Amino acid sequence: MRSYYTTIIVLFITTITYGIHDTIKYTLHHGIDAQSVEVNIAFDSVNTATDYLMIPRSAPGTYEITDYTRFIEDVKAITIYGEVIDGLKGRGSLFFFREKTIITEITYRVNIHKMESDLKEGFASSKMRDHYLGILGYSVFGTIPSLEDQPIALTIESGDNWPIFTTLDPTLHPRGNLSIEVQNFAMLSDAQYLLGEDVQVHRVNEVDIPLVIAAYSETEIDMEEIGRRALISLRGLADYFGYIPMPHYTVCYEFLIPFSDEHSYGFSIEHMNSMTASQDTSRAVKGYEENPAISSMVHHIGHSWIPLRSYGQGYRPFDWGTAPIIETIWLNEGFIWYVMTVVLETPERINWFKNVINNAPKYIKEKPIRALSQLGSTQYSTDFNIGRNLFSRGALMAYEMDLHIQKETNGEKSFKDALLGLLKWTESNQRAFEYDEIEPILSYSTGVNLKSIWDRWQEANPSY
Ligand SMILES: [Zn+2]
Repeated sequence: MRSYYTTIIVLFITTITYGIHDTIKYTLHHGIDAQSVEVNIAFDSVNTATDYLMIPRSAPGTYEITDYTRFIEDVKAITIYGEVIDGLKGRGSLFFFREKTIITEITYRVNIHKMESDLKEGFASSKMRDHYLGILGYSVFGTIPSLEDQPIALTIESGDNWPIFTTLDPTLHPRGNLSIEVQNFAMLSDAQYLLGEDVQVHRVNEVDIPLVIAAYSETEIDMEEIGRRALISLRGLADYFGYIPMPHYTVCYEFLIPFSDEHSYGFSIEHMNSMTASQDTSRAVKGYEENPAISSMVHHIGHSWIPLRSYGQGYRPFDWGTAPIIETIWLNEGFIWYVMTVVLETPERINWFKNVINNAPKYIKEKPIRALSQLGSTQYSTDFNIGRNLFSRGALMAYEMDLHIQKETNGEKSFKDALLGLLKWTESNQRAFEYDEIEPILSYSTGVNLKSIWDRWQEANPSY
């Protein structure tokens, strides 16, 4: 039985530690286990009566539920008395502790092999090979929600003394051990971590910010050519927007022999200062091409402007426990697909967007854009009829606005000014814009009334 004095001490410790924003320590350990990594989270103290471990079930921009809790094993905590207690899987994304006590550490393992085996589309999964470990932050790092905004001291350990690379600080770090400060959980989970002898890193010069290619490939690839394509993409976007908001940027590529016959690749995912593309080896970049296909690269790097630095409600702060309802997926995706058509001068894409919406299935056509976006919040790529319809409607809305703005201003302004208006608005207000704020921001920043175009694209059964 706990003594009276122990209770007093616990209360005292609880009082002095709660509310103090000390650094949390995260350690990612890759040992000799060929299937799993270990995560340790150390903090001053939390009370298991109210706090719990939450493992992400989605991530910004995936627009789907990805139940990473399935790959979490052996959750334990250490109490302030030094006892080890077991964590239990709760509902949804939660792990909890039956004993009501004060804890200072949580540890668990993440089965990367099972993750890759279960997640058949490679973009959501971390990967583990004989000489490579590729980690997506949100696939392994959990959070204690009450501590989510606190700064983090991250240590990455490789038991095999592998070199370590992270998009948080994109240089290839010495072998074995890396420590780095991270702003908060959102940045920790957004980043990528690549370890191993088979990680290739190429620094691209001739651009205003450090631009880095980090790759793992199961066939021969030409890193300089990937770098050249990334440079064209980033320069095109920088010329369009007039500035680069990222302090540095990493293009991460994986070219993989498919994990099984059921695995398919092709979707990429954006992060604050990086993008991840997982492709099968048939898509490997093997050498110089005069006109390479870089639309996807331009699109994903373009996300570093929108929505990563200007976004609607639900996108950020992100609700890691679920895939939140987002009503502006058409903007996140479509506006940047439209920017891609301008940057790469591919106006023929407009016809492709038109075909998508004119030939859409009835159950998609009849939904207004806002409702379709709510649906797409969990099913964007699982039913890609939804995903491509959302970005096509958004791109066509942008296209129509662009023509109108240029006509009304005699070419002085364009849709670019509308996007810069959104970016400036977010920088000033430091919050997500509400749905009804979007059109006024677009109209105000261009000096052109865009309401009639906006209103028409809000309706069901769009055609073009
Ligand atoms: Zn996208």
